[in-house]
Amino acid sequence: MSEKAISNTDKNSRHIAVIGAGSIGINCALSLQRDGHRVVMIDPLEPGEGCSSGNAGLLARSSFIPLSSPGLLFDVPGWLLDPMGPLAIRWSYLPKLAPWLIRYILAGKKANLQPTADALQHLTDACVDLYAGLAEEAGEPELIKRSSYIYVYESKKSFDKDAGGFDLRRKMNIEVQELGQAEIQAAEPALSPAYQHAYLVPDHGFTLDPLALMRTLAKLFERRGGEVRQTSVQDIVMRSDGCTTLILEDDDLEVDQVVLAAGAYSGKLAAKLGSPVPLDTERGYHITIPRPGAMPSMPVMSGDAKFLATPMSVGLRLAGTVEFAGLDAAPNYKRARNLIKHGQRMFPGLQTDEFSEWMGRRPTLPDSLPVVGRSPKHDNIFFAFGHQHIGLTAGPETGRIIADLVADRRSNIDLTPYRADRF
Ligand SMILES: Cc1cc2nc3c(=O)[nH]c(=O)nc-3n(C[C@H](O)[C@H](O)[C@H](O)COP(=O)(O)OP(=O)(O)OC[C@H]3O[C@@H](n4cnc5c(N)ncnc54)[C@H](O)[C@@H]3O)c2cc1C
Repeated sequence: MSEKAISNTDKNSRHIAVIGAGSIGINCALSLQRDGHRVVMIDPLEPGEGCSSGNAGLLARSSFIPLSSPGLLFDVPGWLLDPMGPLAIRWSYLPKLAPWLIRYILAGKKANLQPTADALQHLTDACVDLYAGLAEEAGEPELIKRSSYIYVYESKKSFDKDAGGFDLRRKMNIEVQELGQAEIQAAEPALSPAYQHAYLVPDHGFTLDPLALMRTLAKLFERRGGEVRQTSVQDIVMRSDGCTTLILEDDDLEVDQVVLAAGAYSGKLAAKLGSPVPLDTERGYHITIPRPGAMPSMPVMSGDAKFLATPMSVGLRLAGTVEFAGLDAAPNYKRARNLIKHGQRMFPGLQTDEFSEWMGRRPTLPDSLPVVGRSPKHDNIFFAFGHQHIGLTAGPETGRIIADLVADRRSNIDLTPYRADRF
């Protein structure tokens, strides 16, 4: 497919480096390129191969409920004691995690619920249309599917516990339907009849393959004249002439502006730039079963076990769990294999002879909000990281915000909740 390079002869055109080629970096790079800037995207991995490669693929329009909520503390002990539970902490990591955890718990107060949900919804609301447009531009529209999203529950207790979140979604203009057992079976015959209750959210979407989506968008960026460099940024040197030098593994690179979008790895560079932020990682796992024998037609969330089953072109993906163990600890694939047992309970006919397993690092700040905006210390540095469980979903809107800031265009949303100096 021939693609016209986007011209960057405009006098306002800048040479901009985007650090990190995940969902956030790729979307920032495309938006900046659309404005006529000369953009280089830098990552030691191939585009999309970080956390953005193995997620559950959900374009999570309705996932704006903060991670930490008033009732959460009561659930945590049970989750931690259950080896099949959705949450694990490596105890050796606890001393390092403790300050983050305290902030996370404190952020769950009632007064924060609505403002945080509002700020997250700005990033999630238009995701299906935005990705449909991008995939179309990239020549692979079939990667985006429009569908409903269903949360299923075996126990009435868990269904009732989630009611507050669905009331809030309704209040925030998300349609939610409640289904009983027969309606669940009619909507998704592959599901176990043990599911008695469900919330169905129409007007949602997902990608058939997150890694393929990232790759096709990165190729679109390159076809339009963008540069991808496979190396890592070791340091950032601010110069007195207003430019910035990136110290790469093999070279130095001078640029006018920088977007830091290195996902869970952004903390060190942000601190070097004078903006320390409490970024940690919620590690998650997936199992992908290429020939599952049973497949839903839409993404299914287990409201009891807290994992997602998404029908993908690469097979059935079971994804979820939160593990706090830091950036560098080796994966514990037992947590991924727990997902097989959960999947067999969800889909009675599931064939699990063959599967692949994966671990990814969600970048998460304790108040559930990402850092998106201009650095408080340097006018030519922009931050775009910390998108927790919704970094695929929030990519296009984050890219738009960053491009507006670089162009000094007025944003139509309040950006203060995402500031780096809010902590
Ligand atoms: C199990 C699981 C399921 C999920 N499901 C969903 C879902 O259904 N929907 C959804 O919206 N989100 C989901 N997420 C969350 C989503 O995947 C993440 O929020 C998102 O991938 C974060 O994107 P990112 O671009 O910030 O980070 P990444 O994709 O990790 O990209 C950051 C990149 O920065 C690079 N980098 C790091 N350091 C440097 C450096 N010094 N120099 C240059 N480059 C560097 C890394 O190599 C990496 O490629 C899920 C996550 C997990 C783990």
